[in-house]
Amino acid sequence: MAKKFYITTPIYYVNARPHIGHAYTTIACDAIARRQRLLGSDTYFLTGTDEHGQKIERAVQASGKTPQEFADDISGQFRALWDRMGLTYDDFIRTTSERHKKGVQALFKKIRDNGYIYKGTYTGQYCVYDELYVDAVGEGAPCPECGRPTETVHEENYFFKLSAFQEKLIALYNDQPDFIRPETRRNEVMSFVRGGLRDLSISRSTFSWGIPVPDDPKHVIYVWLDALANYITALGYGSSDSGKLEKYWPADVQMIGKEIVRFHCVYWPAFLMAAGLPLPKAIVAHGWLLFEENKMSKSRGNIVRAETILEVLGADALRYFLLREIVFGQDGSFSFDAVVQRYNADLANGLGNLASRTLTMITRYFKGEVPYPSHTAAHTAADDAIAEVAQKTIAESGALFDQYQFSKALELAWGLVAAVDKYIVENEPWALGEKQDEGSRARLATILYTSAEALRIVTALVHPVIPESTARIWTQLGLGDLRKFPLSDLKWGQLPLGTKLGAIEAVFPRADKSAVERMQKMEDQGRTTAVEEAKVAGPSAPSDLTAAAAPLAKAVAAVPDGKISIDDFAKVELRVGQVKVAERVKGADKLLRLEVDLGSEVRQVVAGIAEAYDPETLVGRKVVIVVNLAPRKLRGLESNGMIVAASPEGGKPVLASFLEDVPVGTRLK
Ligand SMILES: [Zn+2]
Repeated sequence: MAKKFYITTPIYYVNARPHIGHAYTTIACDAIARRQRLLGSDTYFLTGTDEHGQKIERAVQASGKTPQEFADDISGQFRALWDRMGLTYDDFIRTTSERHKKGVQALFKKIRDNGYIYKGTYTGQYCVYDELYVDAVGEGAPCPECGRPTETVHEENYFFKLSAFQEKLIALYNDQPDFIRPETRRNEVMSFVRGGLRDLSISRSTFSWGIPVPDDPKHVIYVWLDALANYITALGYGSSDSGKLEKYWPADVQMIGKEIVRFHCVYWPAFLMAAGLPLPKAIVAHGWLLFEENKMSKSRGNIVRAETILEVLGADALRYFLLREIVFGQDGSFSFDAVVQRYNADLANGLGNLASRTLTMITRYFKGEVPYPSHTAAHTAADDAIAEVAQKTIAESGALFDQYQFSKALELAWGLVAAVDKYIVENEPWALGEKQDEGSRARLATILYTSAEALRIVTALVHPVIPESTARIWTQLGLGDLRKFPLSDLKWGQLPLGTKLGAIEAVFPRADKSAVERMQKMEDQGRTTAVEEAKVAGPSAPSDLTAAAAPLAKAVAAVPDGKISIDDFAKVELRVGQVKVAERVKGADKLLRLEVDLGSEVRQVVAGIAEAYDPETLVGRKVVIVVNLAPRKLRGLESNGMIVAASPEGGKPVLASFLEDVPVGTRLK
């Protein structure tokens, strides 16, 4: 019977539309799933969306949409993008689906029946943004995770006895050193758990967008318990059909981003232990994807969509770049320049060129049939050396891939491409092709067979990473459907002699210089489109891309007598914000860089008030922000919005403020 292999992505929160960071995680899982299928494993690949929580409920309040409509929209965008990229997930779970709700309630009941849930009273600080109770004291105290102001809550809650699992978790990390990867993450988790675990509040009664606690529906289940359960509810946990659960659980790999390590490596195994369920074999955390060395964030307005690279260079270029360029597990930076360079160097000039020159020569000199290598006279040590490199690459590249060292695995595979290129140049098959004597023909046949066989091997090896283009090369080699090739049998010398090649075409057309510009332009336009959609959804619709808005000049149409209508004024979105960070901008005496909390998001605003205010005096202060002003660059910093100040002629600016206390995010009208 085939070995089973179950791999999951985290489910993506629908407060943001999909961007390249989400694509990165899902691509890595897709490549692993594809390799496992080629190796013959009975593979199950799960992804999906996380749709409950106060953040969503609040975000849609102003939009006129229901939380469900809002979640349907964003979840649909994730799924459509995964389909466009050809990702081979077997199931897409949504936490608002009936099957999931039933499963979560069953899990809650099971843990309660096992004695690990009790009712208690909670008083403390809650961060709405992180959906987390935090260690902070006093109303508005900053959240230790994100710096946003917390809210004081008093409620009767259900608690999970997390404290009962401290020793068991430590034992788990010790007994299964591979449970958390990489090592750095494991060490962080160990020290967190050693620091002591407090019981965890796992219900809320102050909002309703969630899954009701069984038998006590005025409480909804904590979003993280709800979300984590997806990995088993998707397999049928809590339903009458548990066939998949028995077959696939526990997961072999649960891939996550490093920011959600604690939830997956502490809470998740504790919930599973409490429910008496087996634990996943490995939680694998990758690092952050940086754009031009910067963290992508709403406040910086630099979040890149996967569509941009897909549109210009195709899905394989994106997949190859992300897995080749970034050392998996660490943070890694990308830029459109780097993507194009990698594409041209490794794909167009590397693998693409090897395929086209080899197949073209076989077509020209041997009528498109793989020639017979000579057994005797025309055989040299150089031919054997290629076979040796190929055998070594098969063994080592595969092993590295299975250790999540995608970059090194691909580097090795491209080492084979380079070796064959060199071999072709040194052996000059084109010169032999001009001669008709038997010796030259035999030598030519050997060289082209060797090249084609090496091409076949590298094509099969890297198929999980660049599936579409390798499938095309495979067809050109006359070998049929690559997805059905048994990768574990791959070895030198399997290319059947006399194989009739398919039609030859370029697989990776070279990208010219305009590719970078085109991507940059699409990204700028995409941001504008996203803003227009977000405005339809409502002023506080959460979106990673709400950073910009239509230019003010366009939004405010003057009426003939120089006055504007109330509708025109309403187009200017003014909101109360609270300054979280204020600092001077190097080399600019008048400018301060501010990070302003608007309730639903934190914005970077660059303001010309440095001569009037010391940055320290502004932190914590409430200010008025023009929210829907198009972003501008000041001294290389993107300013997303404008701070409102009185600007007396010849005097210093004075910030607009309020005598009474006003909640952050309130609109001025
Ligand atoms: Zn927070």
